[in-house]
Amino acid sequence: MKRFPRRAMARTTHLQREAPKLANGWARRARLVWAAPCSLVGLLAGALALLAGGSARRAAGTLEITLRECEAACPAWARLLPFRAIALGHVVIAAGRQELDPLRAHERVHVRQYERWGVLFFAAYAASGIWQLLNGRSAYWNNHFEVQARALSQDPGADERGSDV
Ligand SMILES: [Zn+2]
Repeated sequence: MKRFPRRAMARTTHLQREAPKLANGWARRARLVWAAPCSLVGLLAGALALLAGGSARRAAGTLEITLRECEAACPAWARLLPFRAIALGHVVIAAGRQELDPLRAHERVHVRQYERWGVLFFAAYAASGIWQLLNGRSAYWNNHFEVQARALSQDPGADERGSDV
């Protein structure tokens, strides 16, 4: 029986250990690039929030930008926005940080949708909404991507507490 030199066995073990990490790293980079056009839109919108006194933090592969600690502290115009939180690529924007907490899981499902659809997500989301409208349903509530986000975030009440996209 021929034995492998100890060094070769160690290298094989090292490659076996590192290969999945490298593959995951490349897959993650590919998802970031694929969703980058949408994230750029999010960065532009987020920059406006930062100029208005907001703050940003990194969280689980996303950039969360909030205008104030809570909605009550937000300027009146921010409270008039038609959403409480919105995911644009890997950027999640919300008026109040506290209000983002219960919506975070839902928004992260949207982030995964952006990773899957890339720049096509905007058109796909709009097409799904139009399709629902044409069939007499809500463009938002019955939108395929919203239904999926509610189901996968396992928080069906998230949208009832406030509109989000
Ligand atoms: Zn949503």
